[in-house]
Amino acid sequence: MRVPAGVERDHPLARLTTVRTGGPADYFARPTSEERLVELLGWSEEFGVEVGVVGSGSNLLVADDGFRGIVMKLDGQLASIEREGTRLLCGGGARLPQASARAARDGLSGLEFGVNIPGTVGGAVKMNANAYGGELRDALEWVHVATPAGVGRRAPAELGFSYRRSNIRPREIVARASFSLTPADPESVKRTLADMRSRRKDAQPSGIKTFGSTFKNPEGADGEGRSAGTLLDRAGCRGLAVGGARFSEKHANFVENTGEASTADILALMGEGRRRVRERFGVALEPEVQLLGEVDAAALYGP
Ligand SMILES: Cc1cc2nc3c(=O)[nH]c(=O)nc-3n(C[C@H](O)[C@H](O)[C@H](O)COP(=O)(O)OP(=O)(O)OC[C@H]3O[C@@H](n4cnc5c(N)ncnc54)[C@H](O)[C@@H]3O)c2cc1C
Repeated sequence: MRVPAGVERDHPLARLTTVRTGGPADYFARPTSEERLVELLGWSEEFGVEVGVVGSGSNLLVADDGFRGIVMKLDGQLASIEREGTRLLCGGGARLPQASARAARDGLSGLEFGVNIPGTVGGAVKMNANAYGGELRDALEWVHVATPAGVGRRAPAELGFSYRRSNIRPREIVARASFSLTPADPESVKRTLADMRSRRKDAQPSGIKTFGSTFKNPEGADGEGRSAGTLLDRAGCRGLAVGGARFSEKHANFVENTGEASTADILALMGEGRRRVRERFGVALEPEVQLLGEVDAAALYGP
């Protein structure tokens, strides 16, 4: 098989994720333009090579055996942040907290919610990431989605957003996004960001290797009563460990890599958490974290 120039082989992925586990990708590239993205996607389609995208790897769990396909990480122009009047034009690989900080500096309001989401703009669109302080879909004007056939523009209404979901499919990559923001006093937006950062620090563990929320809150979760974190806590999972993986003492829905965790440890821990919550409350928790590569589904969902 012909492999495009600049594509690396056997590239380690663990260090591209915030939880720091998992094996290598067979192929790896850092595209810096939409043209290059389309070229690589076309190649992957022609040769039936699977495609994975890594943003900040902040909601990603990579199989210990790695990924039999090409992983792309957006770079250069595809990770830039530029202002155009009251718009912020971001590459899919731009970091969302950086975009929020840039908007604040430039006196633009609407991206405050992104300050605590340690992902990229593309990852946030794919995951419909949201947090206290605003909604992604309210600020988003359009995205450029790259496919093997070329790049198309989609409006938020065409992205099929629901809780932590969008309709972005495999072999579709969010290359750029435009946020339409509102002029505001820079000092006041900066104060909001500082306030949101400190509130988050009180509520969640910081400085640990984790991928944020492990499971989605069950449907109909009304407030704290039935959030995934509360269910895991009441089922005795706070602090529970398998190998090097542990449910955080501070937030039971966060898994922490305490040092030498493998993805298998994390999956076994998640499986045990799911089993306990199902037995105790009859609720089937669904993972929020995205899996890349072949993993043992029985570890997670039982035999
Ligand atoms: C401490 C902590 C706190 C968090 N808090 C929040 C929170 O408050 N709210 C929230 O919603 N999430 C939160 N998260 C989860 C995570 O940050 C978000 O889901 C984020 O949007 C993931 O972006 P990413 O770039 O890291 O994506 P990754 O983890 O790299 O990837 C996630 C998925 O998106 C896909 N993807 C990534 N980039 C692209 C792209 N350009 N085009 C198409 N698909 C792409 C990947 O293939 C994968 O399927 C938190 C995580 C951590 C570690």
